[in-house]
Amino acid sequence: MPYDAYGNYVPSKANNRTDVFGYDAIGGVGQLIYHLVHFKEYELDYTESYGLIARPYCQKGYAPELYTKDSPSGADLTASIYNLAKKIDDPSEERSYTDLIIEWCKQYGHPYAIDSLHAYLTDPQYKLEEDGYFIEKDGTFRIEDFMRNLERFYQGMRMHFAFEHMCLDNDEQALALHKDGKHFAGLPFFEQYKYDPDDAPEIDYSSADGDLVKMMQMDAAAANAVEHTDDFSRVVFDYYEELQEKLVDLIPDFRMRLKVNPKTRKMVFAADVHSVFDICWYTFARKLSEDVAPEDKGRASAKPKETEAVVMSCPFCGEAFIRRWNRTITCGKPECHKARKAMNQRNSRKKRKIDRVGVNII
Ligand SMILES: [Zn+2]
Repeated sequence: MPYDAYGNYVPSKANNRTDVFGYDAIGGVGQLIYHLVHFKEYELDYTESYGLIARPYCQKGYAPELYTKDSPSGADLTASIYNLAKKIDDPSEERSYTDLIIEWCKQYGHPYAIDSLHAYLTDPQYKLEEDGYFIEKDGTFRIEDFMRNLERFYQGMRMHFAFEHMCLDNDEQALALHKDGKHFAGLPFFEQYKYDPDDAPEIDYSSADGDLVKMMQMDAAAANAVEHTDDFSRVVFDYYEELQEKLVDLIPDFRMRLKVNPKTRKMVFAADVHSVFDICWYTFARKLSEDVAPEDKGRASAKPKETEAVVMSCPFCGEAFIRRWNRTITCGKPECHKARKAMNQRNSRKKRKIDRVGVNII
């Protein structure tokens, strides 16, 4: 957001057309080199018109840096952004969301104006003393914008994770999806399945005016009016297509257009990437488009290819993590690994018991 210290709009002088992200460059597959810019320090400021803004330092002693190697992949960014939202939304978290956002930016890179900042830093004429002022302006963003973008992405991912766990017979996340967190609203996505439609009056959606979230809230209100229940009274899996459509509606459109790749001088069909949220949504959409059929989830055939990195959520702590080609289902923290082992033991005891009973019946 190109705003100066007084909150006035200042047009960018960066060239947005020089940076190219092709189909093969974005997503959770393999190594992906982003042009993320790292700032060492940020300054927070309150402006009358834009509220709290974060301005990166671009001055002597605080020169911004480009990743030379080990740039975070789309999957890395997706998992870390999800975990940032989870932390911000956790009632037991004592640090302010502003602190957590700035900490994320310092660790991963600047979240906005990705194309323009990269263009500045790679321009042969670039000089810190001359361009620093403009880079600071281009990089300035509103904390409120970040929170709004983060909430939307967090809601979409939460819904997806709840969906995935449900396909693996774990309804916990889906049942809790409607609950509001410390800062972010819950999504009453699954509430309608907590009651039987035969018991409920017809819902008139006309006042929602096509707003999906409003419609879901009306479903939730109808569910509450019938009977308060903490379990599903319908088999949610039977509504798989309907649920899929709702998830797709939450994902923003991508602007795809032809760009010239300056390295190869060839035209490529590429997505516009301005913010880290564009990268995350794109990675998420790709994951969905490459997903296996619901009935195959958890089966050996659903195992990703060796090079594939998939963003999953841990069934024990709920954090997002990246599963490489092995079949790990936990985030790898010792307590989650332990919980997984205990669950395996319980399951095998249950299975042995079922086997024994089965033999007796026969
Ligand atoms: Zn975990």
